Amino acid sequence: MVTSSVVRRPSSVVRPYDPAMDCIFCAIVAGAAPASVVIEDDLTVAFMDISPVNPGHVLVVPKEHATGLGDLPEPTGARMMETAMRIAASIRSGPQQPDGINLFLADGVAAGQEVFHVHLHVVPRHVGDGFRLQVAYGEAPSRAELDEVAKELRSGLRE
Ligand code: AMP
Ligand code: ZN
Repeated sequence: MVTSSVVRRPSSVVRPYDPAMDCIFCAIVAGAAPASVVIEDDLTVAFMDISPVNPGHVLVVPKEHATGLGDLPEPTGARMMETAMRIAASIRSGPQQPDGINLFLADGVAAGQEVFHVHLHVVPRHVGDGFRLQVAYGEAPSRAELDEVAKELRSGLRE
């Protein structure tokens, strides 16, 4: 449950909030929608998920709107990871005393993305909390097949 709202001014990387975009995370970044903010810097803001898997579930969001990972500048993605790591460390040392932490990013509908402004979940985990990704593993590929896919991906890496 959100207990407080924080009004913040958008930083220089944030375009003026356009309600027509209908993006709840842009509204939060612009201070036009409530959020319980953990930390904010020039590129990112991190706030409590309104429907947490467990208490302490945080979302790390770029201030600049990007629908998916491919739309996100790499330095901003790197900062999201830094912020997530700091939050994970805080969760680890806090009263939740989690057994583990998941970082989770759903990029695209097929991956489970529901809010189309990139966000990285930081989820405290407890043994038996019931949160799981259901995985149906296929047959293990041969080393040659793995090498082939690695080669294909290498050739697709951007500079
Ligand atoms: P995803 O399935 O990765 O797109 O997850 C979207 C997440 O955003 C869910 O965990 C929602 O609970 C969360 N969420 C949606 N609206 C808000 C909001 N206004 N404030 C905080 N979290 C939100
Ligand atoms: Zn947005």
